[in-house]
Amino acid sequence: MCNRNPPWWNRRTRMERSLCAIAVIALVMCIAMTFALAFIGYHYQNQLESRGSANLRPTAEQLVKDSESQPNAIQTTHNNDVCLTPGCVKAAADLIKNINEKVSPCDDFYKFACGGWVDNQVIPDDKTSVSVFSLLQDELNNKLRVLVEMPAEEKEPKFFEKMRNMYKSCMNLADIEKVGNTPILTVLEGLGDWPVLVGGNWDESKFDWLQMLIEFRKLGFSHDILMDLSVTPDFRNNTQHIIDLDQASLGMPDRSYLLRGLNDSAVAGYYKLMVESAVMLGANRSAAEHEMLETLQFETILANYSLPREERRNISLLYNKMNVTQVALLAPKTHWNKYFNNLLSDSVTDKEEIIVNVPNFIRNVDTLIAQTNKRTLANYMLWRVVLQSFATLGKKWRELAQEYNTVITGQAREEPRWEQCMSSLTGSLGIALSSLYVRHNFKGDSKHVALDMVEYIHREFLKILDRVEWMDDQTRQKAKDKAHAITPYIGYPDELLDNEKITELYKHLELSPNDYFKNVQNLRRWSTDYAFNQLRKPNLKGDWRKHARAAVVNAYYNALENSIEFPAGILQGSFFSRDKPNYLNFGGIGFVIGHEITHGFDDRGRQFDKDGNNKNWWDSKTDSNFKERANCIIEQYGNYTVPENSLQINGVNTQGENIADNGGIKEAFRKPLNLKKAYQEWVKDNGAEKPLPGLNYTPQQLFWISAANVWCGKYRPEVLKLRVQVGSHSPAQFRVVGPVSNLPEFAQTFNCKVNSPMNPKHKCSVW
Ligand SMILES: [Zn+2]
Repeated sequence: MCNRNPPWWNRRTRMERSLCAIAVIALVMCIAMTFALAFIGYHYQNQLESRGSANLRPTAEQLVKDSESQPNAIQTTHNNDVCLTPGCVKAAADLIKNINEKVSPCDDFYKFACGGWVDNQVIPDDKTSVSVFSLLQDELNNKLRVLVEMPAEEKEPKFFEKMRNMYKSCMNLADIEKVGNTPILTVLEGLGDWPVLVGGNWDESKFDWLQMLIEFRKLGFSHDILMDLSVTPDFRNNTQHIIDLDQASLGMPDRSYLLRGLNDSAVAGYYKLMVESAVMLGANRSAAEHEMLETLQFETILANYSLPREERRNISLLYNKMNVTQVALLAPKTHWNKYFNNLLSDSVTDKEEIIVNVPNFIRNVDTLIAQTNKRTLANYMLWRVVLQSFATLGKKWRELAQEYNTVITGQAREEPRWEQCMSSLTGSLGIALSSLYVRHNFKGDSKHVALDMVEYIHREFLKILDRVEWMDDQTRQKAKDKAHAITPYIGYPDELLDNEKITELYKHLELSPNDYFKNVQNLRRWSTDYAFNQLRKPNLKGDWRKHARAAVVNAYYNALENSIEFPAGILQGSFFSRDKPNYLNFGGIGFVIGHEITHGFDDRGRQFDKDGNNKNWWDSKTDSNFKERANCIIEQYGNYTVPENSLQINGVNTQGENIADNGGIKEAFRKPLNLKKAYQEWVKDNGAEKPLPGLNYTPQQLFWISAANVWCGKYRPEVLKLRVQVGSHSPAQFRVVGPVSNLPEFAQTFNCKVNSPMNPKHKCSVW
């Protein structure tokens, strides 16, 4: 209108012209604003809808894909419906850091739930991996360090002093350096010399392998290097203990390593470790190279005789009961009476029953020992003494060990000394350490909240047993009996606060503040004495000493006790917190609880009955139905390839853990989802649980994210390879992707399109 008539413009006063110009500008701005608001409003609406379905679209292409795959909008959250307690805000902040929203949850749920975490984590040089578990354990170790290093309290019980002595002796690097190689050389001399060190001066006539093994046991070195002798609960009569004879422990992490030969970098690293040790103790280098090669070849034969992990999952095949006379028939060249009566604490007769796990191994080793020249045998046995001593010797030994570690695990440098010393307390001194920990750190009220969760998930497992259609009624009943009989241990036993009981336990253990080498021997001997002394004692279920390692971030199922255990160390952080919404706790510790319960019914756990005895309670048809389902899991995981190293997962070795992961997450999910039953009741009593601030996900979706977050992890390539080749757990991403892609409940929560990567048509399910 203003521009239509220029002569008219010319007739206007200056003031009128200015006003008109302002009006034009205002109108243009007004129109522009209208468009802008409409545009923003449209997108805001779009975003709300898309967030409602849990997907933030980074690209237009993604937007199109998602709008097809996620037609059902899930309710949008509004600020006043959000939980703003400190617990919720903190949990939300953690989740926001962990998630990578550029990845669709239906394409790769691990990358979605843990992608941000993985991007932000750096593996420290002194670590081989970093995970949600390990970070929590690091925090716990810091707390332990403060406690162990603080000055002893007045009238502190003696066992705390012993523990502190162990730690002090380990931290005392100046003394360790000062004594140099003397402790190990003294031991080797006492054992008739390490042949490789003394050349032609080695006196073969004084060597008797069995006598040497007995000396190892007396000194506090492992006697399990040619065959493994232990006292265990009898798998088929578990109120009693029995002697167990198994294949040897090896110097490398697994037999498969040794079988690869010297062209393999890890085996070459191990060989180098042998040679350099001998040289450091005074051997001539070329003699060391020659003799250690023979030593390595001997150990490779032991590896070859050993049963691979895959073949050790059938418990019945490992249960071969024979008396000493029968063992002597199996392996006639060994003086078995002398062997058992000198290594064990109690005397045994020819009628004593032994479980021989791998009879062929014992038969073969018996012959091998007789055929091997004494020098090689002595070189091997004493090499294993040297190998056990690395951690207790000076700097150059630790550097040598570190070089080998780098090849095996990728760890670039050794852990800080205090961490190494802390781990020397977590084994046999774990009970004393845990006692110190729970006195200062564990809030008892977490115990009953956790117990409530255990009970709930336990009930869900029982419901699953009712529903599975592949079981006959009799087997189903036995399974239910077994599930009912599971005993939970949560937090820690009260005995950890009982000074007298712990004092009694460590009564015969002597540890000084300044002789680490000797302390490690003492501790090892004490621990073997303790285990061997159980032989004639009944095996008591629920013995507090078996459930007293509270200062660890871990959880267990014990098939022989049919029990589950959640130590104080795991009842915290991202697993569990009383001030977090329940959907996060069910995703965290709830998943872990379900996992442990399901272990009682995985391929190994199911071989034990409700009392923890190895007894077959499966009808043959149901048994083959189970195997068919387990095979589905074996094949599914066996087809996963680890992108970092192109290795395939070992579906057989990981099946137990995979079955537990699949069952566990399913059992834990039912509570938050079960809106009609328990959860609604819970909501009635306690008020609704609100979603989290800054995260537009429903409680159900947050459950799955929390569950995936349990496994966020990052590994060095070397240790990843080690885990894939010998581990019983699948690498982190498959522990998430495997279970979620098998569960329709997941696909439903995230509206994943059928045949999207996380919602394949073909699904596996055991429980
Ligand atoms: Zn497990």
